[in-house]
Amino acid sequence: MLSFSKIIFTALVIVVVWQGFKLFNRAKQVPTKDQPKQTRAQKNQQSAPAAQEMEKCPDCGVYHAEGSAHRCDA
Ligand SMILES: [Zn+2]
Repeated sequence: MLSFSKIIFTALVIVVVWQGFKLFNRAKQVPTKDQPKQTRAQKNQQSAPAAQEMEKCPDCGVYHAEGSAHRCDA
């Protein structure tokens, strides 16, 4: 039988992990400003291959490396 403290602790872990994923995803989407001296062409050369490597799974929405084995078991 679950005690009240265990339920609270489980909920806390879930919230922390959830918030962590939200911050992690936001950090990936926000464009970084650490390379202000780069030209547009240089940026395209570096960002285009990285964008092509990731593929969104149509079933579960998870981004995974293109061509790699992926299972929708998460
Ligand atoms: Zn999937």
